[in-house]
Amino acid sequence: MSRFFWTFFIILCLSASAYLLFDIIKPAKTELAPFAPSPEVRVQLKSNTSQVHFSFQDHLVEIWLPEADRPYQWKGDAITISRESGEFKFSNSAYPIERLDLIPKGGRFEYNDGTYPGNLRLISSGDDSMQVINIVELEPYVARVVDGEMYSHWPLETLKAQAIAARTFALYQKKWRQRKEFDLYASSRSQAYSDENTSYRSRQATLDTQGVFLSLNGRLFLSYYLNTCGGKTFPFKFGSSKSSGVNCGHCNESPFYQWQVSISLNDLNSALQKHISAAKIKTLRTALDQNGKTSKVIIITAKNKEFKLDALSFRRSLNQFFQREKIKSLVFAISQNKENIIIDGKGWGYHGYGLCQYGAKAMGEKFYSCLDIISTYYPEATLTRLPPISPGS
Ligand SMILES: [Zn+2]
Repeated sequence: MSRFFWTFFIILCLSASAYLLFDIIKPAKTELAPFAPSPEVRVQLKSNTSQVHFSFQDHLVEIWLPEADRPYQWKGDAITISRESGEFKFSNSAYPIERLDLIPKGGRFEYNDGTYPGNLRLISSGDDSMQVINIVELEPYVARVVDGEMYSHWPLETLKAQAIAARTFALYQKKWRQRKEFDLYASSRSQAYSDENTSYRSRQATLDTQGVFLSLNGRLFLSYYLNTCGGKTFPFKFGSSKSSGVNCGHCNESPFYQWQVSISLNDLNSALQKHISAAKIKTLRTALDQNGKTSKVIIITAKNKEFKLDALSFRRSLNQFFQREKIKSLVFAISQNKENIIIDGKGWGYHGYGLCQYGAKAMGEKFYSCLDIISTYYPEATLTRLPPISPGS
């Protein structure tokens, strides 16, 4: 046989044994411990709906009607509940009540193609509509937010910093929304709550930081965070406490570090007409606040009249008109090119406060710890841990 054949054969054998060896010595994923019991949060999954359909893997659900001293035992793998003429209807019966609770005995249910932990509450929002609330313990909630807000392959220290920020945000809302029907929206209006089973790494990041939250001067605060700050974050006040803005310097690899959009004057006229009383726009310029954030957009009309528009309203009107987040932040400059307005912006996130997610990712990749990340973006905050609670309390 030729020398070529034997050389090829030996290389093949060496590659195969290297592959097998690598596969054998690859560390196995260890089973993660379950979360310790934690306080419950109420997450709104849906508002203004007239009919809902839930599936359960465990075939047994307790349905609690208000003031009932025992639950209605529902045996089956799915249930459809509707709200009609001031009544909740299911299983050929109608109940003139304002809310009901469902407790899946396996602690898990499916709704709208998503799988969720915890229990369900339906609350009337009118004679023919209701809202769907998921009542879930804080720690599994946080793990789902880590999955909803970041990619699970991002560095573990980054995911841990996100878990602490998300836990703080949730605890603050829980404290201040006690009299409301729910604490958090399931979307980025509060925090993105993933509807899928949690990833291993988000559970690990949540477990590693279990119960840890931030406070300013010993008090809970709304721990804002954003996708990309674009270079620096802005200071914000919380009651008598202040959180400084910081020079981030870590997020320049973000796809949203800088952006540019070109908008025709025609589209601008349509998008902003309710603010300018049908006048025709000639040009725009911006006014900045003392921190360099765009605070106002000044609209100059063809007749040289000026309208001052709050930058948030400008952003909202344009994003609504284009039905997407065209204006990603409030750090932008405006120039003009014939019939087009050019907007050059930095970062993604309307407020510019707190943790910069892409900055935290880059810090994690440079082997900074979760505590380094937290103290970079919330320099005055201190870490506290929730006291343990006993199961079922
Ligand atoms: Zn940044």
